[in-house]
Amino acid sequence: MEVIVIKIISIVVGPLQTNCYILVCEETSEALIIDPGFTDREWPKIFNNIKRSKIQIAYIINTHGHADHISGNLRVKDITHATLAVHYRDVDMLTNPIKNLSLMLGLNVTSPPPDLALRGGEEIEVGSIRLKVLHTPGHTPGSISLYCESLGAIFTGDVLFAGSVGRTDLPGSSYRDLISSIRMKLFALPDETIVYPGHGERTTIGVERRSNPFLL
Ligand SMILES: [Zn+2]
Ligand SMILES: [Zn+2]
Repeated sequence: MEVIVIKIISIVVGPLQTNCYILVCEETSEALIIDPGFTDREWPKIFNNIKRSKIQIAYIINTHGHADHISGNLRVKDITHATLAVHYRDVDMLTNPIKNLSLMLGLNVTSPPPDLALRGGEEIEVGSIRLKVLHTPGHTPGSISLYCESLGAIFTGDVLFAGSVGRTDLPGSSYRDLISSIRMKLFALPDETIVYPGHGERTTIGVERRSNPFLL
């Protein structure tokens, strides 16, 4: 039997309580970061742990271009030299504080431009971690969800939450696209798939299929 050696570290960062996930392959000590969020209080401790355990961060992947998910890109990339990846339709948001909505929060967030523009359909491989990129637009045009089949886990950013869905009253949002992304791409996954959202508690595809009021 294949032993799964992937650890998921989940931390809540910043004023909007963004979930940052760090996936570590314990076999090779390689790792990737999904949405660094704001690198305020929690990050110095994480950087120390990464250094102490000699973890190599290969990728920083943004689920989409909003400030609360990308604001730590610069600092994390500086320290880890990881490859920064985002969907091509959200690329402009990284370097533009109006488009990433940080100005709306009274901040001025910019990120380095991505090293890798995703289109959806790619597989990102880091040690024994394999993440399939699903393009799930609606909250933003370039929102992606990241599916790890061996863990039975999907990282949904601001597309799908426990009992809710992402906002679509923002520039570039589309309610129709959001609902269709969830129904066609996320609800195609097995019921037992664990959903790790960009904010709030985790859930499963089955629970959301049966009880999410936005999708009944
Ligand atoms: Zn968002
Ligand atoms: Zn968010």
